[in-house]
Amino acid sequence: MEFATFADRAAAIEAEPADLEIVDLVRELLEDSGTDDLEIVARFVQGRVFPAWRSRTLDIGPNSCYEAIARAAGTNVGSDDVEDRLAEVGEIGEVAASYEFGGQRGLGAFTGGTDGTGDAGGTGDELTVREVFETLEELAAAEGSGSQDRKTDLLFGLFNRCSSEQARYLARLVLSEMRIGVGEGAVRDAISEAFDVPVEGVERALQVSNDYGQVARVAREDGLEGLDAMELEVGRPIQAMLAQAGTVIDALEEWEEAAVEWKYDGARIQLHHRPAESNETAPETGVFSRNMEDVTDALPEVVEYAAETLEGPVILDGEVVAVDDDGAPLPFQEVLKRFRRKHDVEKAREDVTVRPVFFDCLHAEGDDLLEEPLTTRHDRLRAMLADSADPEQNAADIEGLSLLWHTDDPDEIESIDAEALEGGHEGIMLKNPASTYSPGRRGKHWRKRKPDVETLDCVVTGAEWGEGRRATFLGTFELSVRAGDDGAERRSAGSAVESQTLETVGKVATGITDEKLEELTELLEPHIASEDGQAVDLEPEVVFEVGYEEIQTSPTYSSGYALRFPRFQAVRHDKDPGDSDSLERLERLRET
Ligand code: AMP
Repeated sequence: MEFATFADRAAAIEAEPADLEIVDLVRELLEDSGTDDLEIVARFVQGRVFPAWRSRTLDIGPNSCYEAIARAAGTNVGSDDVEDRLAEVGEIGEVAASYEFGGQRGLGAFTGGTDGTGDAGGTGDELTVREVFETLEELAAAEGSGSQDRKTDLLFGLFNRCSSEQARYLARLVLSEMRIGVGEGAVRDAISEAFDVPVEGVERALQVSNDYGQVARVAREDGLEGLDAMELEVGRPIQAMLAQAGTVIDALEEWEEAAVEWKYDGARIQLHHRPAESNETAPETGVFSRNMEDVTDALPEVVEYAAETLEGPVILDGEVVAVDDDGAPLPFQEVLKRFRRKHDVEKAREDVTVRPVFFDCLHAEGDDLLEEPLTTRHDRLRAMLADSADPEQNAADIEGLSLLWHTDDPDEIESIDAEALEGGHEGIMLKNPASTYSPGRRGKHWRKRKPDVETLDCVVTGAEWGEGRRATFLGTFELSVRAGDDGAERRSAGSAVESQTLETVGKVATGITDEKLEELTELLEPHIASEDGQAVDLEPEVVFEVGYEEIQTSPTYSSGYALRFPRFQAVRHDKDPGDSDSLERLERLRET
């Protein structure tokens, strides 16, 4: 296909406001693309030069592009002029289209012409889509000293053979600013319509391959059967499944039981590993970020882990976490010092150690697992990570395995949450145990526990002595709010508040580390009014800020309400009991 045809079609698509019509235009474009062009056209129309799974980028700065445009536009045009026009119109396509090209024909000897036709540009021949792609591929491959000049030269060669309209779309393609209104869904639907294959088949093939070009070609050549035969490939990253914010309440209502995991405070990784086939060959390992960037070289610990642990080909989904000398997690900022690092990796490794932890298995030993339920995938994960010499190994002892609990008991979820926070993790993830793996989807099947939007300042009116290693700590704190609307008066009268004016709203035991419990015990012990076994009555002196998921009516507490899933946030040293929240505010919050 000539690039001029592509540019015409792109202009028609850009001018079309209706989504359905856009799909129709993309369908025609795909139908009219030749065998050799289809893959390229399916990507160009989305503004992509390479498939999403390839780490390759053009690696060319906007300035080189401006220079190439300026040079192709004639001797009296400079980069400054391009930049001035850009500042005026705000869009590089419009700027490129405002010039006349081709005046520099005799100089256009850099267009690659790798198609064997000997067409090296400057001959007046029409530029084809394939030539554009091959030149951009050559441009992307240019490395080392002088490579930026070489890239600019190659691009100049292309612009020099463009009409103004072609230049509009070439410039946008090169700077990843195509923006003609063609989203991934439009290309998916257009492939389905052009080659008469069900959209679900196209969707699945896209999920496993991450390559619109390949899927279009297979759909045309082999139909649904071909698409169904497409599989994950070890070494080719796919999009990560994403999570929504959600509550424990919703999760349990919808799924009967939830799979609960710790939420690690690190960076998402997808590990692709193929063990060495013999002593002479090396294993192949690729580590990819959530955006499918290749981050292998930055994370040698993950590569080493894979070589030591994995005995079959796999694709694993997980998180890389920075850890201290005892293996305890460090804050997210520490991981950032390692993730994507290109230089001085060994030195950075001396400062910050990272460890992988995996929570999903997408492929194991020849089996694609995307369609399997989470529970099955997790079992395969465990089997892949466990010591093969010890099949009975306890899950907690398997290095790199994220633990997974199945439960329908809110209290158990609470204690997993507390354990997660105590262990230095971010909180918990709630997952539907029956759900398949949906690449790229922010669906309802994975939920990160919602951070509390509102918090309440409650007076601590009671507590319980803990058990076991927590026997010397007060825990399970009883929370109360002020009843009546005379708070202002009371505040002005002094800090104390009569205990009969306080009504209980719940108990908080979650989100408190041992260290914090010790501190809270010291703070509260002097205020113990009476004790009865483990239960302790406290004089109302200390105010806690607590988060919660929901306020519901309840006969259990004297206020008539209960905070569901209350979580300790902080001690409000700046507040007296008289400044704590009132029952009225609780009722108002319940309504909103
Ligand atoms: P967020 O980045 O806040 O949208 O939360 C979702 C992210 O949490 C995922 O993309 C992962 O990087 C991360 N994460 C940490 N632990 C887990 C886990 N157990 N399961 C899934 N994702 C997790």
